[in-house]
Amino acid sequence: AIRVSDLHKSFGSLEVLKGVSLTAKQGDVVAIIGGSGSGKSTMLRCINFLETPNSGEIVIAGETVAMRPDGSPADRRQIERIRTRLAMVFQQFNLWTHRTLLENVIEVPVHVLKMPRSEAIHRAHELLARVGLGDKADAFPAFLSGGQQQRAAIARALAVDPNVMLFDEPTSALDPELVGEVLTVIRDLAAEGRTMLLVTHEMKFAREVANHVVYLFEGRIEEQGPPSEVFGNPKSERLKQFLSSVA
Ligand code: ATP
Ligand code: MG
Repeated sequence: AIRVSDLHKSFGSLEVLKGVSLTAKQGDVVAIIGGSGSGKSTMLRCINFLETPNSGEIVIAGETVAMRPDGSPADRRQIERIRTRLAMVFQQFNLWTHRTLLENVIEVPVHVLKMPRSEAIHRAHELLARVGLGDKADAFPAFLSGGQQQRAAIARALAVDPNVMLFDEPTSALDPELVGEVLTVIRDLAAEGRTMLLVTHEMKFAREVANHVVYLFEGRIEEQGPPSEVFGNPKSERLKQFLSSVA
């Protein structure tokens, strides 16, 4: 469902991604781990067109993203189309604070996908119920806990029925006692065969839900493989050190 080849990204003279390639087939859950500053967020942001890569190839849901030689998107319409097949969940929920949860969830279906409002509302209620917020449709984000806000952000991401979901440390802004409820929602999505790229510091969780783990070190994939190998039998010294530092 997604293929990234030889992705490069620099900010000025700082080379952040130095040729990253990875593939996630339909239903794959790929966990991306690595130290702070290794380029995990930048990689997800390039895939979601929040950053412009300098070079490389990105194929999403069978479509190769048309890039100019400088990596910028050559076809705005294509980007808009692909964007509706991707959904990203951020560390800081990014809900619209002046809108209720229901309004947050229907926004993109109604205004971008042109879904009839009544249908969008019906689906939004289903999605909010799915993430355990069936009774909070009319609440504003500020009145919810962090875990509830993040579950609402996941409902909003699901509202476009995305082909690929990108999660960037979805639990790292949460109080420890709220992490579990969000992980449970993500675990259910993984179990139903959603394709996901998941940046996480929760190694236990990565080991449990991912079928592929990628370890980034200074903008390169240092090691990757099934969780049993990456966690159970790491080859690279850097990965061994990283795992012992987060254990
Ligand atoms: P963390 O675990 O702390 O979230 P990360 O692996 O997600 O780290 P990135 O956010 O991708 O790391 O950042 C990689 C490097 O790129 C860092 O050195 C960061 O300072 C730099 N960087 C990221 N975004 C920008 C930007 N917009 N302008 C300049 N430098 C940036
Ligand atoms: Mg990051």
